[in-house]
Amino acid sequence: MAEVILRVEDVPREARLGENARIRVWAKPQGSSSGQGLNLDVSRISAIHYFRGNYYVVYTTDKVDFYRPYVVEQIPPLAIQLKFVAKEETIYYCGFCGCEMIWDADELFCPQCRAGVEWDAPPKVEKARIFRIETAIEEEVAQLAEKLLGVKVVKVANVHRRSMGGGDVPKFPFHEIRIGLLSGVVDGVAEVTDPVFAETWWDDNMVYQHQEHGRFIAVRLDFRDSYGTYATYLLEFEGEPKWDIVQQLEEEEKKRREELKRLEEERWRQWLAEQEKKRKKLEKWTPEKVVEKAIANLPDWADGAVVYTVVSRTEVDADVIRYLLPVKKSKYNGDYYTSPDWAEIKGIPRQALDKLADTVILRNGKAYKAKISKSNGKYVNIKLAEEVKLE
Ligand SMILES: [Zn+2]
Repeated sequence: MAEVILRVEDVPREARLGENARIRVWAKPQGSSSGQGLNLDVSRISAIHYFRGNYYVVYTTDKVDFYRPYVVEQIPPLAIQLKFVAKEETIYYCGFCGCEMIWDADELFCPQCRAGVEWDAPPKVEKARIFRIETAIEEEVAQLAEKLLGVKVVKVANVHRRSMGGGDVPKFPFHEIRIGLLSGVVDGVAEVTDPVFAETWWDDNMVYQHQEHGRFIAVRLDFRDSYGTYATYLLEFEGEPKWDIVQQLEEEEKKRREELKRLEEERWRQWLAEQEKKRKKLEKWTPEKVVEKAIANLPDWADGAVVYTVVSRTEVDADVIRYLLPVKKSKYNGDYYTSPDWAEIKGIPRQALDKLADTVILRNGKAYKAKISKSNGKYVNIKLAEEVKLE
């Protein structure tokens, strides 16, 4: 038997344990890009740590060779140790629908039927062994502060929350860092004395000031939810904070942000260059050239072409698309007609047709404004109006 440290990508927050008391974790062998499931015996796990997206599981095994691809030499120094339990619990299934019931305060209810326990349909009761990670957010934050600063955290004195609706904004600067915890991302840490928070709410113009008295480590945690919630934890502590690790992390974060900014600027430049290229390409398509190309590409049976506009509306906006369609001269009235069902004439970019919107081009090279009547059945009737000067 040997004790190894396994680096794994995912450990379930909660799992029902079967006969063999194993949980399924997900791990990538070193040097491989695809992961694999591993079944770990919970009774052989002595500790689970978490750092930047990876779990470090301290595991006792007699199959060291099997686990070797997942073994690392050490746990990262800033990793958070997670509490976990594996214990027998009673599980209740709804007497109506069979769903697993959940506790709301001290009452059981069914998430499906939204009913509680009824005398005429008592729940089915079952015992099961459950594995669960039970680390509270406050514990994660306190552990991180201790590891970052070499202090002893006495307690979490207060938590100031902020989200889209409002809440408390800390009025002091943070060292900007970035370390992901299980419950969110720590993006700031500071040492503060008598810190002030400004409280604002979206439906209220007043700003309320709160001041806390004492000396604290402040840790800002971004919960990365859709409400933009973050919280500032004020920690009472003993000892003298050392800032060298924080300074390294600040440096790292600064580089990360510069790199993000650089990538964004590069993407913007590429977009502009593409637009310019498209514009240059379109510039070559003068109305004269469009007419020339349209005549060259006319099918034999056609007498000309029309730039036909289709507007397709969605709920949010409208799309204007122009097609170059063949036209035929009517034997009955000398007007022209086309059909949206006919194949469009290819070879000219659609955007180049904008300058000749609703214009008829005839084989003799002349162009006329088109009076297009509404489609009646298969064909669209077109009358020629004034001549369009090409230049
Ligand atoms: Zn139910």
